Amino acid sequence: MAVQRAQADVFRPYGRKELAALLRRSSLTEQYRREAQAVAEVLPFRTNSYVVDHLIDWSAVPDDPMFRLTFPQPDMLPLDDRLRVAGLLDASASRALLGEAVRGIRSRLNPHPAGQLERNVPTAGRQGQSGEQGERGIPGIQHKYRETVLFFPRRGQTCHAYCTYCFRWAQFVGDTDLKFAGDVEPLVRYLREHTEVTDVLVTGGDPLVMSAGLLARCVEPLLDGGLEHVSTIRLGTKSLSYWPHRFLTDPDSEELLALFRRIVAAGRHLVVMAHYSHPRELSTDVALEAVRRVRETGATVRVQAPVIRGVNDEAGLWAELWSSAVRLGMVPYYMFVERDTGPQDYFAVPLVRAWEIFRDSAAQVSGLGRTARGPVMSADEGKVCVDGVLNLGDDEVFVLRYLQARRPSWVGRPFLARFDPRATWFSQLAPVSGVPDSSPWARLPGGLTPQGAGAGR
Ligand code: SF4
Repeated sequence: MAVQRAQADVFRPYGRKELAALLRRSSLTEQYRREAQAVAEVLPFRTNSYVVDHLIDWSAVPDDPMFRLTFPQPDMLPLDDRLRVAGLLDASASRALLGEAVRGIRSRLNPHPAGQLERNVPTAGRQGQSGEQGERGIPGIQHKYRETVLFFPRRGQTCHAYCTYCFRWAQFVGDTDLKFAGDVEPLVRYLREHTEVTDVLVTGGDPLVMSAGLLARCVEPLLDGGLEHVSTIRLGTKSLSYWPHRFLTDPDSEELLALFRRIVAAGRHLVVMAHYSHPRELSTDVALEAVRRVRETGATVRVQAPVIRGVNDEAGLWAELWSSAVRLGMVPYYMFVERDTGPQDYFAVPLVRAWEIFRDSAAQVSGLGRTARGPVMSADEGKVCVDGVLNLGDDEVFVLRYLQARRPSWVGRPFLARFDPRATWFSQLAPVSGVPDSSPWARLPGGLTPQGAGAGR
């Protein structure tokens, strides 16, 4: 039965032009607002009426986690950079001058981490997963792991709101050479030739910003004869959090849910990879109803997010999130580590702290909540999980493991790294001296240590 539509249920986006007015909802200092506006010139800002009216506690701003998750914070950029942009705004500098300063700052923020452009974009034909140097890649496709292809549909490269920590921020700032998106036909041709692929992850941005009709045009060709090897279709989305009305009262909500049912009826495993950063995202009636409606279609919902300083860097929050997820029939999946891009310095949590948060969260939930894995770094060579810290003689070491890897033979093998209490990313780690060269360190391309082979800045 269709749900009644009220004025509050109509999607109303807010962007940089509305930022000043939105920030006046709280008693922030003039300096804070000026610098936040400068940050919004460099990094993308977009939110909507549901996030602003129902998820943010304005009495707790600027410390409120949902505010930090969605609104620019001055310290996301180095002081010099934000003061330079703020000065240009104060002086009503020309767009050309401002644009030049902004481009310079963005280029220092590692816009495409972990070799996404160089190593993940395949070329046409059977050459293999990664394109050879000089060959033209297939737009809109990344193929990093043997079984899984990522598809970035051209019309799905935005979100209902942007996360301040987004590792795909570069796609949202209008810089065309930083974007990658494509159409479904080349994807289908590629998949016909790559029968090793079992999973297609439709991602963005957020593919559920597309109308149900557009999404159907992206997904239904995957149900055709000849692609039976694609047994799982995943949809990467934060719409269950940022715009749950997508599944209730949008004009095409019913059409969207019907599409989900068709995918399931076609014998495919449909998985909604739901990005939830904080338990508050599951606190409203509309959010709960959205989960219920999605699950009713036969889709599985898996829950994942990075651990972010000032947003969710407390074990109790993760335990609450995973417990709520299990209660609602969803599956806790990944706790990620914030990637080495954009304002990572501001949001990053040291690896040792991330591991402690994971360990202490898992200790507070039942076995069904412990389906979550982490903390995981999506690094250049694969997904590296921090399994813990051990004493090895007089030294402390990190115990690491590839959960997923470009080279399948690396998956599941533990290896060690020197303990570093300040390390926040794989590229900052180093092998343990005296440990035999049987670890993945020794087999990195060219025999490089991770400092050379990773995607560090
Ligand atoms: S929902 Fe995902 S893609 Fe969109 S801004 Fe957040 S992290 Fe980025």
